[in-house]
Amino acid sequence: MKHGRPIQALIPSVDRILAFPRIAAMISVYGRESVLCAVREELEELRALLEARAETAVSETAADRICARVAAKLEAAAMPSIKPVFNLTGTILHTNLGRALLPAEAVQGISVAATQAVNLEFDLGTGKRDERDRHLESALVRLTGAEKATVVNNNAAALLLVLNTLARNREVIVSRGELIEIGGEFRLPEIMKRAECRLVEVGTTNRTHLRDYAEAIGPRTALIMKVHPSNFQVVGFTKSIDEGELSNLAREHGLPLVCDLGAGALLDLRRWGLPYENTAAAMIEAGVDLVSFSGDKLLGGPQAGIIVGRRELVDRINRNALKRAVRVDKLRVAALDAILRLYSNPERLAERLPVLMHMTRSQSDIRAQAERMLSAIAQVLTGVATVTVERCESQIGSGSLPMDRLSSFAVAIRPAVIRRKAVVRVDALSQAFRALPLPVVGRINDGVLYLDVRCLDDENSFLKQLEYLDLDAGRVRS
Ligand SMILES: *Cc1c(COP(=O)(O)O)cnc(C)c1O
Repeated sequence: MKHGRPIQALIPSVDRILAFPRIAAMISVYGRESVLCAVREELEELRALLEARAETAVSETAADRICARVAAKLEAAAMPSIKPVFNLTGTILHTNLGRALLPAEAVQGISVAATQAVNLEFDLGTGKRDERDRHLESALVRLTGAEKATVVNNNAAALLLVLNTLARNREVIVSRGELIEIGGEFRLPEIMKRAECRLVEVGTTNRTHLRDYAEAIGPRTALIMKVHPSNFQVVGFTKSIDEGELSNLAREHGLPLVCDLGAGALLDLRRWGLPYENTAAAMIEAGVDLVSFSGDKLLGGPQAGIIVGRRELVDRINRNALKRAVRVDKLRVAALDAILRLYSNPERLAERLPVLMHMTRSQSDIRAQAERMLSAIAQVLTGVATVTVERCESQIGSGSLPMDRLSSFAVAIRPAVIRRKAVVRVDALSQAFRALPLPVVGRINDGVLYLDVRCLDDENSFLKQLEYLDLDAGRVRS
């Protein structure tokens, strides 16, 4: 080192730091353990910095700087890791941002189940043990026309359970055009393997005929499966077999027909002027024996996997030991209970269920909101970016309605260009919005940052924090 002093001599001792009044005050807020931990971590980092002989390292050893960094560490650690963000990505059901937002009624249900003892698996009439599914079954049966229903952790768990119960050590016939992967984490062939069944693929990626299914049926066939093609669509020269035809074939051979509906609409969305999405009721009506779908997609509830269908099959599923491992917890039972009750009054559903509210917002309403916000955003970006209101397309997301887009409006932010050079990188702009106290997540397309305001409920909080937008880090140096 150019100072000729050993590193050790430059770094204050842990005890010396702990003796500073500012640090001592932190002990009463965060506890001695945490403060000690933060101080040790800070001194360790400082040592590494000095060993790397960083130019500025020595000045970093000043006691007040150390105290400030320890304070920042403690404050950051005390913040909840899960924090609210503004989802302005244009994807309503964004898996990475937590999918469906719950209505107040569901939050109320969760709060009761979380803080009080409840009749989760207890029949208050007889005083005996009961099933947790009982709270949801009658509504699910009524809404889908199925004989029986059960609810598990998520749709992936539902499929695992269905396949393991009905097809263990046997064959499952699926069209090649339906072998899906969702978000890189859900692969049907993988689930099949875990469920210990053998996948028999039929047809080609774009065309599958009824005879392809018929020819694949053999002595080891356990069931025929139909997967609702979710986040992709094969377009052009295609052929797939609908549930009605498949159901006849399955019945002739005494096999169950199972449908992974994915997004799981409970009601026909055309009633709200939205594109058609298969409903669980339509599948049951077409003769499907078991339908499974997610609770936190189009249904608009908490994460869950819902299985509806023939009584005898649901009973067999409930007897599988795996069911216990993938059951749904009381908080989500309470939330689903409240949400299914909202479905009993469809006239008011669009004003109560956030997912549907966001899907059905009028274009004029979205546009007016984007225009209201325009000048405030343009002002904080003066000289850095040009800001306009532009037409864009939202998507429902999470594998629902893959090809159908909803017309929407975004605040479009374009880096300003001076002498043919962008003043700021667009990813730095995006990063600055994500670094706000209430992070804003938009979408970058072709060098433009789009903030689709379709899902922006709390406009005031959004605007109020704009003054904290820090663009210095992203400025391109000339
Ligand atoms: C989303 C989806 C799944 C996975 O559902 P999770 O509830 O996320 O486990 C499975 N199949 C299809 C067709 C889907 O769209």
